[in-house]
Amino acid sequence: MAVVPSRPLPPGIPADWAGARRLFEAATKGLKCGDLVHARHASCSKAALDMLGASLLGSVRFFFPFYVVHAAMHSKKALAGDKDFYKDMAVYYARSILFGATMGTTFCVSSCIMVRLVGGFAFWTALLVPGSISGLSIAVEHIYRRRIVMNTFYNMTLDYLYLRAQVAGLVRRTAAAETAAFMALNGLLLYLLHKAGSKKRSTPVFWFFIPDGERSDQSNEPKRICPVPHKGTCWESAVQATAKYSAVAAALQALRVVMNRGGQIAKSPNVFFSHFLSRKTAAGIASLGGYVLLYKVVRCVLGVRQGADMCHHSAVAGLIAGSAYWLQPNTTILSSALIAIIRLLLDYLPRRAEILVKWPMPELLFALCNGILIHARCMDMAHCPKFIVHMLDTATRNRSQIIYDAYMQQVNRIQFHKQNHT
Ligand SMILES: [Zn+2]
Ligand SMILES: [Zn+2]
Repeated sequence: MAVVPSRPLPPGIPADWAGARRLFEAATKGLKCGDLVHARHASCSKAALDMLGASLLGSVRFFFPFYVVHAAMHSKKALAGDKDFYKDMAVYYARSILFGATMGTTFCVSSCIMVRLVGGFAFWTALLVPGSISGLSIAVEHIYRRRIVMNTFYNMTLDYLYLRAQVAGLVRRTAAAETAAFMALNGLLLYLLHKAGSKKRSTPVFWFFIPDGERSDQSNEPKRICPVPHKGTCWESAVQATAKYSAVAAALQALRVVMNRGGQIAKSPNVFFSHFLSRKTAAGIASLGGYVLLYKVVRCVLGVRQGADMCHHSAVAGLIAGSAYWLQPNTTILSSALIAIIRLLLDYLPRRAEILVKWPMPELLFALCNGILIHARCMDMAHCPKFIVHMLDTATRNRSQIIYDAYMQQVNRIQFHKQNHT
């Protein structure tokens, strides 16, 4: 697989980091914060107020669909008119909005301070430092929502850095190497999940498939040949789980088509079918269904042969199931597996290192990821994950696009200047 930037690079923008840095330094030489960070307002205080208003309204809009999904997921409580449920949801929503607004405003204010402190713009500090400072606003977000937000940002940052490493020639992306890496990670992940499932209090992990832990109480069940905990026979359970996950894959793909081509589908419903009935959908269903089927079958076969269900069976089953990645390689799945493994391994840290978990390490890491992603959005849009572009643009009512445009204008200015002198 060749390196494909998310979007084509604008003319004159070098793909490599060193070239991008030289260009940035030439383009921003002698500029003030008002020329780049807040091109619409000359005054810093007016710009901060503008950002406050924009990010308040933008966050209202950006977070709304997430709470609609949240209500749909708890539809029983929502339909019953559960007062506590609605009260909690209102508090979560208000905190999310406040989080977005604090983040936008701190970014704007710290950018202006940074430019004055450094005496101009520097490639590594212009957006990375204000972005990281503003990332500390995650403390405003409710702890329940914080985990999901942080996980998404870790994921997107890994995706971005992986793509950047390919562009820099540090790694070469091939389906075979990626599948092998995923198989190894997946074996370790399912081993850890199996082990964690046997414990009473399990760590919250974001992974689409959570295997059952070992059966704790076997005394009052009739004796079965298969020691793996599942309802019905091995085949029944495997086929049921495969059908469920295949349906989820199909539903997700349908949702993706509707979200990407909503306007066209409204005009002509056939557009939906022509995009939904594609090889991509088939590969997605076969990949997710195949993953679940392989895992369930291998775990049962090993369990029956050995007469017991053990954690290392999940490692083998996970390794083999990981081969389904080949059908639809996806770097987001790869980075999600890596993050889930790190999260689970933190439970096995020696006592002395526990301070690392007690400290707000995840929040500090989030802040750094935020800096990296804001830098990606405003200076390196071609490689920035699409979700981050959508998120920052919605939540700041296009203020991130304005920064990008202002930067491109400066780039065009020096390139025009250069052309005229050669
Ligand atoms: Zn300023
Ligand atoms: Zn079985």
